[in-house]
Amino acid sequence: MSGTVVVAGAGPAGLMLAGELGLAGVETIVVERAAEPDGQSRALGLHARALEALDLRGPGDTIRAGDPMPWPRTHFAFHWLDVAKLDEREYIVVVPQARTEQVLAEHAVAHGVDIRRGQEVVGVEQDESGVTVTVRSAAGEETVRADFLVGCDGGNSAVARLAGFDFQGDGKTYYGLWGDVEVPEGEQFDAGLHPTGLFGAIPIGPGLVRIMTTEFDRPSVPDEEPATPEELRASIRRITGKEVKLGEVRGRLHRFDNATKQAEQYRKGRVLLAGDAAHAHFPSGAQGLNTGIQDALNLGWKLAAHLRGDARDGLLDTYHDERHPVGRRACLNAEAQVALMYPLDRVAPLRELFGGLVGFTSVTRHLNDMVTGINTVYPMEYAGQRMTGDEGPSVPVSPLLGRRVPDLTLTTADGERTSVARALRAGRGVVLDLSQGAARPDEWRGWADRVDVVSAEADGQVTEPVLLIRPDGYVAWAGPADAAGAPDGGLRTALTTWFGEPSPA
Ligand SMILES: Cc1cc2nc3c(=O)[nH]c(=O)nc-3n(C[C@H](O)[C@H](O)[C@H](O)COP(=O)(O)OP(=O)(O)OC[C@H]3O[C@@H](n4cnc5c(N)ncnc54)[C@H](O)[C@@H]3O)c2cc1C
Repeated sequence: MSGTVVVAGAGPAGLMLAGELGLAGVETIVVERAAEPDGQSRALGLHARALEALDLRGPGDTIRAGDPMPWPRTHFAFHWLDVAKLDEREYIVVVPQARTEQVLAEHAVAHGVDIRRGQEVVGVEQDESGVTVTVRSAAGEETVRADFLVGCDGGNSAVARLAGFDFQGDGKTYYGLWGDVEVPEGEQFDAGLHPTGLFGAIPIGPGLVRIMTTEFDRPSVPDEEPATPEELRASIRRITGKEVKLGEVRGRLHRFDNATKQAEQYRKGRVLLAGDAAHAHFPSGAQGLNTGIQDALNLGWKLAAHLRGDARDGLLDTYHDERHPVGRRACLNAEAQVALMYPLDRVAPLRELFGGLVGFTSVTRHLNDMVTGINTVYPMEYAGQRMTGDEGPSVPVSPLLGRRVPDLTLTTADGERTSVARALRAGRGVVLDLSQGAARPDEWRGWADRVDVVSAEADGQVTEPVLLIRPDGYVAWAGPADAAGAPDGGLRTALTTWFGEPSPA
């Protein structure tokens, strides 16, 4: 494999991307500003969709081995959604962000990724043949030359600034504080939505509470200036009008204030953005980490194919085309949540009305699916009215097309029990042949170096005999065996679209 990628930032998006690139054999260097992981977790929850993404590779097993607790409770603008009505696979599970990052880092290193901590990106220059990244460490400044640079360096991305990305957003910030604080037994908190902001207090261990405050009309303070327990107490007092007793702070207190913003383009030549670097918003609905992991899963295999030289022209640009609308939707719904919370006196009638709506299961499902990304569908351009050419039989568009494949249990011809997620473990495409011999797998031999053919029986749920599944688990083609061989619009068109031209026999 030729080509080197520098990933800026060892947060969840950067580590997930690095693992994907490493798995595909791309030489990958992660440069991370912090000298060590601080062990603190902004996100406490992992959305079902993010866990499903990790299930496609090894980290899912490691996370599940810890038996993470499902958390059938979530809110939209502080309207509690009764997600217990939904399928358990749609719940958040409790996994602190620091644990997710640790597992992703181990996975990336196991696939040959070089993680360099204590290195801050301070310069980016790109030309026709590559990118020169200047990093600053305790030893001074040095440059690293790469084919691509991916900025996964968070909401104040230096990569985005240095490479000249344009952003859209409202520019409105707020004043937020969070930290894990020991709390004296019996201390009562007036948590919830108040006229000037939010006060969150979530028990996370014996005598330990995650405290989070947000004041919507207060200017933020740079995070470099350390936040103090007195500052936190004052914020709680302003929001609730009450004095609280707080004990020791575990780790440190942090500020957060990201205005909603999204990069207009996720790619600028040889520099790309993913995660919070590409889209930042108010942390409502616990969706930032999840969206970043999905960005990385979408980008990794495309960038690897581009570097390998077997991708069709334009494959890499489908990263922007597919993920920008998802990021936009996350920004939009986070903004909508803020608009439903503040100013409370103005929005009270709207809240009352909205409170009635969330009682409907269909509304709960819609909001949950939107926030978790479960209802993400990528448009498959060759899938118009007909998926076959004029010569072939007409094939109705499958409801699976462009959606995440269900994790079917599979039984292969030699009796081995496996699953779709396991079939995708290698990070390659998969033709899932459920046709019981009706399809002709020889027709797809030209892609054997990039795509595995798995012939099996599935445990129901799917009626289409042949599926093409991309490495990120999205269904790129689904139809009957006789259409799979059609010269135009059949599976071969889909294979060429996503995996390039077949290799000569
Ligand atoms: C209080 C709070 C609670 C949240 N809760 C949730 C939740 O429950 N669920 C959820 O999904 N999301 C949640 N989020 C959002 C989530 O934490 C972020 O969306 C997520 O961390 C973004 O991941 P990332 O990898 O894109 O960026 P980050 O996690 O911000 O990682 C960026 C990395 O880049 C490094 N870096 C920065 N600048 C440079 C540079 N110049 N050079 C090199 N490295 C650099 C940073 O040190 C950092 O390690 C929460 C956010 C907050 C503030």
